[in-house]
Amino acid sequence: MRFRPRPFKEEVNFECKFCIDCCRGRFIYLTLGDIERIAKHGHDPQDFLMLTFEGGKTRFVLAYREWDLGCVFHDPETGKCRIHEYNPLVCRIYPFMVSRKPLGVEGEEPFEYKGEKFWLYYDESCPGVGEGNEAITPEEIAELGIRFEKEMERTNLDEFAELIKSER
Ligand code: SF4
Ligand code: SF4
Repeated sequence: MRFRPRPFKEEVNFECKFCIDCCRGRFIYLTLGDIERIAKHGHDPQDFLMLTFEGGKTRFVLAYREWDLGCVFHDPETGKCRIHEYNPLVCRIYPFMVSRKPLGVEGEEPFEYKGEKFWLYYDESCPGVGEGNEAITPEEIAELGIRFEKEMERTNLDEFAELIKSER
């Protein structure tokens, strides 16, 4: 599935349709906080973590099934996320997106939040956008974006090694 960004400037309704498109065939980046939270719920990092090397940095990503490239936490029977209550920040942000720079999409404009400037988008290709009764606000998504950035700053191999040591 290709992300088709549309400017996100005011509340948008969203209800996941469990189509699996966003849980398959792409890297889901994990922060140290994500890894810690998932591990605390009894999942061994060996079973859900993969490492990838990008731009000189090690990144932690969710492991996927070989047969359909689906995330290891996706339940193929129900179509739902098995760790929905404590899933990674990236999964909570999607189908929205937080950027520090404009993407060049028609109608986009900066969103100011807590004294900082963001460009927010939603993915038009997600069938859950505009559905259901839950309204998602730009403030909520900007807040998650800030949290993701902060957690990524301390996400590295050394901090990961410390985390594993403290879990033992
Ligand atoms: S968030 Fe959207 S793309 Fe992802 S599973 Fe739900 S409906 Fe499908
Ligand atoms: S953790 Fe859950 S929401 Fe995130 S990719 Fe995996 S199945 Fe999908």
